[in-house]
Amino acid sequence: MSENNVHNVIIIGSGPAGLTAALYTARANLEPMVFEGPEPGGQLTITTDVENFPGFPEGIQGPELINLIRKQAERFGARTRYEVVESVDLSDRPFTVVTDQDTYRAECVIVATGASARWLGLESEERYRGQGVSACATCDGFFFRDKIVAVVGGGDTAIEDALFLTRFATRVFVIHRRDELRASRIMADRAEKNEKLEVVWNSVVSEVLGDEKSGVTGLRLKDTVTGEERDMEVGGLFVAIGHDPNTSIFTDFLDTDEEGYLVTDGVKTKIEGVFACGDVQDRTYRQAVTAAGTGCMAAIEAERWLETEQ
Ligand code: NDP
Repeated sequence: MSENNVHNVIIIGSGPAGLTAALYTARANLEPMVFEGPEPGGQLTITTDVENFPGFPEGIQGPELINLIRKQAERFGARTRYEVVESVDLSDRPFTVVTDQDTYRAECVIVATGASARWLGLESEERYRGQGVSACATCDGFFFRDKIVAVVGGGDTAIEDALFLTRFATRVFVIHRRDELRASRIMADRAEKNEKLEVVWNSVVSEVLGDEKSGVTGLRLKDTVTGEERDMEVGGLFVAIGHDPNTSIFTDFLDTDEEGYLVTDGVKTKIEGVFACGDVQDRTYRQAVTAAGTGCMAAIEAERWLETEQ
């Protein structure tokens, strides 16, 4: 252990929840240490326009919003490190946090590890990942210029991705397993109005078709009502079927619900001094602004808890 000193607060994760927790704990002079994790900035860094974060009437790009919150937190003394937390020991205080570079100790831990894209779980999906199969339209959309592509999912992410892909692709199919979108009305309206976009209802992808040379060349779809199968030609598949909370390093110490979210009372976990905020504990709202809100709550709770412990 190269760092012998015990930090006041370690924040694991750097999306809007983690960075807002950093901002508040930094302003409380707690000099928080933030470990940015495998996807610094979290899900906002793979999105484009954020139109619903208050204060930005014209919208703001996801990565820019994250950079602004990070800068704001650093201005008050938050330390941000590009390290990935590999394990924790929350059984004793001070708590231990082991990253890919070092071992740290802290009086208080704020978990803000967010959620990661869910995959369909097909062997063929795995085979063509990076060769036409992607879970990030904003990262990879550019490579599909003048191609036909498909997006699987029926939520806001699927529609947002599909609309974004219409900038490059000649045609975008949204494959949805039901006959009604889950996406919000405003997104569904935009989808309906876009001539390049078509929803394929009551269908699931049963196989990704392709070959070594070209990558993805098509999809085998199964009708969820009739059970019939048919093939469809596409040059790419974007998977947008939701996210799973990133909790694997905590499950020895903290409780999760049946969908894998950390169980909290507000932002308190069952361990005193360990708080959780953002998508890792929020199965309902999952918005940047609610993540930031719970990040603030976790920071205030951490500050109060540290005060009572001293
Ligand atoms: P959601 O959970 O809202 O939607 C997931 C979609 O994928 C659903 O339509 C679901 O189908 C479908 N699905 C899930 N599993 C499978 C599967 N195995 N096979 C086929 N389809 C599957 O996730 P999102 O990522 O879309 O959204 C998450 C949150 O983020 C939401 O609260 C959303 O509003 C928000 N968001 C907001 C945006 C904005 O406001 N601009 C942009 C992006 C996200 P079914 O409907 O049948 O359950």
